[in-house]
Amino acid sequence: MLASVASATLSGAVGRAVTVEVHVSNGLPGFTIVGLPDAAVRESRDRVRAAVLSSGVPWPLRRITINLAPSGVRKGGAGLDLPIAIGLLVAVGELGPDRTEGLAFCGELGLNGALRHVPGMIALADATSPLALVVPLCDAREAALVRAGVVHAAATLEELIGILRGQSEWPEMPAASAVTRAASVPDLSDVRGQAVGRRALEVAAAGRHHLLMIGPPGSGKTMLAERLAGLLPLLAPSDALTVTRIHSAAGCALPDGALLDRPPFRAPHHQASVVSLVGGGSWSLRPGEVSLATHGVLFLDELGEFPVAALEALRQPLEEGVIRVSRAGGTVTFPAAFLLVAAMNPCPCGEGVYEGACTCTPASRSRYRRRLSAPLLDRFDLIVPLSRPDPDELLAGRAGERSAAVAARVATARARAAARRPGPESSQGVAPDAEALLASKLRSGDLSARGLHKVKRVATTVADLAGEDVVSFAHVSEALSLRAGRAVVA
Ligand SMILES: [Zn+2]
Repeated sequence: MLASVASATLSGAVGRAVTVEVHVSNGLPGFTIVGLPDAAVRESRDRVRAAVLSSGVPWPLRRITINLAPSGVRKGGAGLDLPIAIGLLVAVGELGPDRTEGLAFCGELGLNGALRHVPGMIALADATSPLALVVPLCDAREAALVRAGVVHAAATLEELIGILRGQSEWPEMPAASAVTRAASVPDLSDVRGQAVGRRALEVAAAGRHHLLMIGPPGSGKTMLAERLAGLLPLLAPSDALTVTRIHSAAGCALPDGALLDRPPFRAPHHQASVVSLVGGGSWSLRPGEVSLATHGVLFLDELGEFPVAALEALRQPLEEGVIRVSRAGGTVTFPAAFLLVAAMNPCPCGEGVYEGACTCTPASRSRYRRRLSAPLLDRFDLIVPLSRPDPDELLAGRAGERSAAVAARVATARARAAARRPGPESSQGVAPDAEALLASKLRSGDLSARGLHKVKRVATTVADLAGEDVVSFAHVSEALSLRAGRAVVA
């Protein structure tokens, strides 16, 4: 007997349709899977067998061959357990072949027959369109994000068999519960003082400028960076779907199966592997931190401690907004368009030039600086020196401005910039004294041609934040001060 069941497998953040063909014949009992299965798929034999037995169906003592088509696509993960089990039940006559018509199946099986979570359900749901998709109950809301109305769910294989035999109805889809995500975003009002750092965040958020903060321990770099995502506008629906899709493919828990509509904040540790940063893996390619940060913030604390290979790997996403990951399993392109925020100490001892307490030798200092390549430094429009907050400001105990107020200015500035496009950046007028200031910096060698371009961009953002149409001397001065940290590290 031959049966054929529709399913899908995950390749990066994209789903690929897979047809599971099951052939059962007389002969020596056995179970073979062909068609580029990975280790998890090969192991499905044991899970499928135990789950079928747990569901009260006898295991056929016959020769079972599973073919996963198309044969050129690698199949990863345990999500093919369920279609394999269903195909087997059809092939041995436990289910009528008409019972699975118009349906696709994705789900991992527990030994007790429970249907378990599979990562990447959004992409899998896409790939099985237009068939109705049957998924584990816990994945139903995630799948329904993109396939509302054509998702069915069951909690166990036994329940599913009963439904497919027409003995019972599909259970109700789990309802959405109240979302409480807003509470988890830290607020800028927690930050006391730190006028320079706060302003840098605002300018970075308004103009999508990559930001490097340089300061001694205790200068609040991490605390500031963690509050940047809260200044960005909520994601547009299409961006929210992209972000949710990537988190789904990475196996991250989604808040109650809802779309992630807040810009993500990712802060990988400098000891994290390059693969976890950029994505990949030996077989099934998974998105990395740079992709999980898409449409949000990637924060690299202690930038100078990241291995050179990790920093080099950031180049493509910073230039193109995507990352291509090549492995034996093929090449996959993930989105990777993030706002980069980095922090570092001014020198190995951390005290740097601001506190006058640096104990580093000139050699160790220059070695520290050389860790950051010029091309990487050039990615930062804003390089801001920070010092420890003034004790008087801390003791005054005045709360800082709230994130919501800053976010409102950011949204207004972004709207101004968007209304100006499309058109050359220079469509924003520059006042004569501001031009003169830039020209003098260029002549004195304080600014390179590339630096000039960056300062103009930042000054334009400052003007947008001020609601002014012409870039003034003051705007250019502030833009110059927001890259003053470059002298510390370059
Ligand atoms: Zn030092």
